[in-house]
Amino acid sequence: MPASAQRIFIVSGPGGVGKGTIVRALVERDPRLWLSRSWTTRERRPGEAADAYVFATTVEFEQRIERGGFLEWTNFLGNYYGTPTPDPTPGRDPVLEIEVDGARQVKTLHPDATLIFVLPPSREEQARRLRGRGDPDDKIDQRVRKAEEEEPVGRALADYVVVNDDLGRTVDEMVSIIHACRLRD
Ligand code: 5GP
Repeated sequence: MPASAQRIFIVSGPGGVGKGTIVRALVERDPRLWLSRSWTTRERRPGEAADAYVFATTVEFEQRIERGGFLEWTNFLGNYYGTPTPDPTPGRDPVLEIEVDGARQVKTLHPDATLIFVLPPSREEQARRLRGRGDPDDKIDQRVRKAEEEEPVGRALADYVVVNDDLGRTVDEMVSIIHACRLRD
């Protein structure tokens, strides 16, 4: 791949692992990265930024699927989530923060995409973060169980696995991985 070509970086990992915080820090550190904004049909959580997602209705989402407007999409615990087909900006590398089914789809379409899978420092910490998000009670146990299912699948797909035990160190490690990938080919 020529040095100027676009390279897709996928950051995936079970829920509650801190992916959102990590990708925001990554794009601040590396101006060549461009954070893709996903669409979802999930309701906005109390206190969640209005631009965290494009919050769409099911009809709007399904119309976009029909138009072929997603690079990948999935149904995660009853809601749609999808990455709009990236508009390639010369010199910028898209970063996708997505769950494992979407990560698998992107790796199939773009085998040269780099998948960094993030693991929690402990199950207890992960469950605490999942519980602290303002989801309704009936959704929380589903999210904890889903996170347990995702972990082995993601590990198997990943190019790199990192443990988010300390945010600063995790981001440093990922910045190094990204730089090394760009130099590789
Ligand atoms: P949450 O509801 O907690 O914001 O997101 C639920 C899961 O969906 C998280 O694992 C998140 O990374 C993932 N996700 C967010 N956007 C997308 C997307 O565009 N595609 C896919 N496949 N997963 C996404």
